[in-house]
Amino acid sequence: MKDPREAVAAVVDPEIRVVTIDDLGILRAVDEDPATGRVVVTITPTYTGCPAMDVIRADIRRALAAVGRPEADVRTVYSPAWSTDWISDAGRAKLAAAGIAPPSPVRADNVVPLTLAVRCPRCGSPETEQVSRFGSTACKALWRCRSCREPFDHLKAL
Ligand SMILES: [Zn+2]
Repeated sequence: MKDPREAVAAVVDPEIRVVTIDDLGILRAVDEDPATGRVVVTITPTYTGCPAMDVIRADIRRALAAVGRPEADVRTVYSPAWSTDWISDAGRAKLAAAGIAPPSPVRADNVVPLTLAVRCPRCGSPETEQVSRFGSTACKALWRCRSCREPFDHLKAL
């Protein structure tokens, strides 16, 4: 039987299906309540306005049921708030491979960061421009590369 943590970590993000909730840092913890034996999953929502959290909760329950643990509590914590810094290196690599420009890491020390160029995920050129603040979902902005002329999604940095 698969480990409940492994099962939950494999749940893919419903909006960006190339990465798991573990890659994105949505998954905080998978524990077992010693009193009840129930699996307790702790998640933190990503972007406000992303309607994906209900889907993610349902997918977590389904994944746990598939490994024989249908009795689960899915808890949502808002603090500390999720940021794009929580996306793992593996997650960033998967996003880039899917043609989604991963967000630049946000400085945590309140130093105003330099505006970093968003690199084209196809040709790597930093000559890019934002076309629309809204891409295919609320979490993504639509960008275009001035070198290869291809549009691409950029995951908004938070
Ligand atoms: Zn390009």
